[in-house]
Amino acid sequence: MSSYLIRGATFPDGTVKDLAVDNGLIAENADDAEVIDASGLHVLPGLVDLHTHLRQPGREDAETIETGSRAAALGGYTAVCAMANTDPVADAAGIVEQVWRLGREVGLVDVQPIGAVTLGLKGERLAELGAMADSAARVRVFSDDGHCVHDAAVMRRALEYVKAFDGVIAQHAEDPKLTVGAQMNEGEQSAQLGLTGWPAVAEEAIIARDALLAAHVGSRLHVCHVSTAGSVEVLRWAKGRGIRVTAEVTPHHLLLTDELAATYDPVYKVNPPLRTSEDVTALREALADGTIDAVATDHAPHAREDKECEWAAARPGMLGLETALPIVIKTMVRTGLLDWAGVADRMSHTPARIAGLTGAGGAGGAGAHGRPLAVGEPANLVLVDPAAEKTVVPSELASISRNTPYAGLTLPGAITATFLRGRATVLDRKAQA
Ligand SMILES: [Zn+2]
Repeated sequence: MSSYLIRGATFPDGTVKDLAVDNGLIAENADDAEVIDASGLHVLPGLVDLHTHLRQPGREDAETIETGSRAAALGGYTAVCAMANTDPVADAAGIVEQVWRLGREVGLVDVQPIGAVTLGLKGERLAELGAMADSAARVRVFSDDGHCVHDAAVMRRALEYVKAFDGVIAQHAEDPKLTVGAQMNEGEQSAQLGLTGWPAVAEEAIIARDALLAAHVGSRLHVCHVSTAGSVEVLRWAKGRGIRVTAEVTPHHLLLTDELAATYDPVYKVNPPLRTSEDVTALREALADGTIDAVATDHAPHAREDKECEWAAARPGMLGLETALPIVIKTMVRTGLLDWAGVADRMSHTPARIAGLTGAGGAGGAGAHGRPLAVGEPANLVLVDPAAEKTVVPSELASISRNTPYAGLTLPGAITATFLRGRATVLDRKAQA
């Protein structure tokens, strides 16, 4: 295995120093090391995504574990949590083990499967939660994402079940009765465009209910892709009461608004939908003050025929892995809302802790705070050039799919290198094999 000496990198706390990578670990120094000049570059712990759709098994025409892993590495990620809404659904030990093994075989990023909460994502009977937790994949996060676990009794049972092994239920908060036929955010824009709206209350009511259920059970709740200012208020209230709830926000909800629906370009169709600029402001502030704990991509590749059609027929979802960090730099760092230590926290330490990933998150495993990038830790690292600017060209993305809403947009920050346990998965901005 190669060793590296990374010279003069800026650490998240602002100090500039050298960093050696030897035998898969962060080391004091390394013999016969390849020297990487990192002057002007930031080093962060490898990013961790709580919410990735890799589409395998079932929709390998949209993404595979291999192409999604390459996109992740190029985005600076060393671990991604793969959502369960594959075909077949990841609701049993055999399927999560298959996804986990394929991820290991590709070897570009740690693929941590998320298990379904209910069989077939039907919202009725619990999936094999215990068997998935005991499997080789060691599943700790369960989600019916794409669907809301809308039956309160089922949600309660799921929270009770995962408490035994400190698992977490990640909820796609959407009251389905309030979003029948919804095409975009409910508000001024939807009224003008004549499209059926997805009201904020459909998200906020489920978050409030689930926070109360989590408190009642004494279990852990994670809220996927928070998208409204009202949801932030509910989360603030729940956290203030000591309820064990964490939440994520996507890069697209930090940047884009529902005014884009006026283009009728389905690339902007996503669930939950793009909201208003007031929501965007509230989400940024909540990520800055920690009310929202983490950034998660909700990377959702779709084949051409599912996206290049009329708005109403298009599937919701956007690519996210390769552009997440640049968008966080644009919306949070350049605006002064978050420093680099904050970026490391929201995109690596905290998501690793929420997912219970040992060895990820930069220090001590499972996202322990306080000793970022310490000697002896697994060398999961990303080097970022904060001064670089890069224009998003869909045909250059590693994903099979092309549904990025950022085509032609110039974003700050370039991921120059990514290391997974000491192995360079990206070097000189290029994916390694
Ligand atoms: Zn979702």
